[in-house]
Amino acid sequence: MYINGKPHGPWQANTTCQLHMRAFKDGDTIVVEPWRANAFPVIKDLTVDRSSFDRIIQAGGYISVNTGNAVDGNSLPINKEKADASFAAAMCIGCGACVAACKNSSAMLFMSAKVSHLALLPQGEPERHSRVINMIAQMDKEGFGSCTNTGACEATCPKEISLVNIARLNKEYLTASLVSDK
Ligand code: SF4
Repeated sequence: MYINGKPHGPWQANTTCQLHMRAFKDGDTIVVEPWRANAFPVIKDLTVDRSSFDRIIQAGGYISVNTGNAVDGNSLPINKEKADASFAAAMCIGCGACVAACKNSSAMLFMSAKVSHLALLPQGEPERHSRVINMIAQMDKEGFGSCTNTGACEATCPKEISLVNIARLNKEYLTASLVSDK
C-alpha cells in the first residue's frame, strides 16, 4: 500500500509489513492508500486484485522438470556471478510497488526479475524463448503500461531489484523474437 505518498512507506528497501510505528513521530498524520493501476483493480479499501501477476507467471514463469528425487546440488556447476545475479532477481516478492510507483503503470521491473532469474540459470534454458514471449504477451494483455526508463520502480522496490534486469529482459525478448517462430 501507499503510505504518506510512498509505496511501502518511508523506509528504503522495506515492505509495509516490516514497517514499524517508530518510523513516524508522535502526532503524525498517516495517509494510507491502495495501489492505483488499471491492472490492479481495487477490490475494497486497501485491497487490490493482483491476479494479473499470477497470470503472467502462469504464462511462462516456470521451468519444466521431471519429478523424483532432488538432484544433487553439485551435479550442475553454475558460474558464481550468474548464480548471484539470479538469486538477486529471485528476491522479487511480486508486491506490485513497482507498478504502483510507475507513471505508466508498467510491470517491467517485476517481469524482468521473473525472466532474469530463470534466464541466468541452465535450468531455465529449454523454455527460454517461449517464456519471455508468452510472459510479455500476457503483460500487454493485462493492460500494464510501457517502460520509459524513469526508474521509479527501482527506487521504490523493497527488494532492490535492479534496472539491469530490464535491460536483460529487453535483450531476452529481442533474441527470442528473432529466433522464435511464434
Ligand atoms: S520488482 Fe520489486 S517492487 Fe516490483 S513486484 Fe518485485 S519486489 Fe515488488
